[in-house]
Amino acid sequence: MEDTVFGKIIRRELPAEIVYEDDETLAFMNIEPVTPGHTLVIPKKPFRNIFDIDDETLAAVMRTVRKISPAVRDSVNAKGVHINSNHEAEAGQTVFHLHVHIIPRVERGTYAFWPKLPHDPVEASEIASRIRKEIA
Ligand code: AMP
Repeated sequence: MEDTVFGKIIRRELPAEIVYEDDETLAFMNIEPVTPGHTLVIPKKPFRNIFDIDDETLAAVMRTVRKISPAVRDSVNAKGVHINSNHEAEAGQTVFHLHVHIIPRVERGTYAFWPKLPHDPVEASEIASRIRKEIA
């Protein structure tokens, strides 16, 4: 896998405001936060995204997300957090080392959430069939 800015942070070649570390994961402040407190959790092993990471490493990442989310929330007196992750450029991924965003939200109404398409049962059923076939 190509080296990324997060690889440099893991190796301490780039500075980062690290808030948590264990054998498998690292958590640090986002340099361009969506909201104050925006924190990133990464595996120390260099996986690109959801399409190549193994179950154990992803579980370690999510364990850290669960562990530190209350502290991230409380550090800015937020009520909630977004747990978000982008996979491939088309989905907004810009750093190709898997990461999970923890984005505190103090109140509703300060952000535009996802658009909602009208429900199309025929389309949903067709896509569901394709997903089930791919998984099998
Ligand atoms: P994504 O667009 O989901 O790939 O998110 C990548 C995130 O990494 C962005 O929110 C950036 O602000 C953040 N980022 C990029 N470089 C750094 C860095 N050196 N330290 C901390 N966060 C970074």
